[in-house]
Amino acid sequence: MDIWTPAYIALGSNLNDPIAQVKQAIRHLVNLSDTRVVLQSSLYQSAPLGPQDQPRFINAVVAMLTQLSAMDLLTALQSVEQGMGKLPPTQRWGARVIDLDILIYGEQRSDAVALQLPHPEMHKRNFVIVPLAEIAPSLVIPSHGLASSISMRLSMDGLIKLPQ
Ligand code: AMP
Repeated sequence: MDIWTPAYIALGSNLNDPIAQVKQAIRHLVNLSDTRVVLQSSLYQSAPLGPQDQPRFINAVVAMLTQLSAMDLLTALQSVEQGMGKLPPTQRWGARVIDLDILIYGEQRSDAVALQLPHPEMHKRNFVIVPLAEIAPSLVIPSHGLASSISMRLSMDGLIKLPQ
C-alpha cells in the first residue's frame, strides 16, 4: 500500500513501572515498519476505570502515519503488547502492563468486535481525550465533535498531567 493514513493510538499501563512501560511502548511504535510516529502527547496519570483496588494508570496518545491497513496495525499493536508481556485480562478494566488501542484510523468506521473504529468509548474518557486534544485539538471525532471541545466538557477528575 502506498497510501499513508493518519491514525491515533492510546497507550495505558498500571503495572511494573508504568511510566517506563508507556515510554517503551512508544519506542516500539516508533520502530514499527511502514509507520511513522509524528506526534506524542505528554504522559498523564489517571484513576482506574472499574475496580479501584489497582494502581493508577499512566496514559498517552500518539499520532502516526501508517501504510498498514487498520487490521494489520491492530495485529502489530497486539504483537507489541504480547512482546511486552501483556497477559489475557482476568477482569474487565483490570490492571495491565500495557494496553494499546486504535482510537481513529483515517475515516474508517467499523462495528466488528475485533476492531471498532472510531474507538467507541474514547469520547467519555478524560485520559484519552485530554492527551488526544493536546496533540490534535482540531481532530473531529465522528458524532462527537472536536477533540478540544470534548476535552473541555469532560471532568478532569483523577487526571494529572505529569511534568515532562
Ligand atoms: P483490551 O485488552 O481491553 O484492549 O481489548 C482488546 C480487544 O479489543 C482485542 O480483542 C481487540 O480485537 C479488540 N478491539 C476492538 N476494537 C479495538 C480498537 N479500536 N483498538 C484495539 N483493540 C480493539
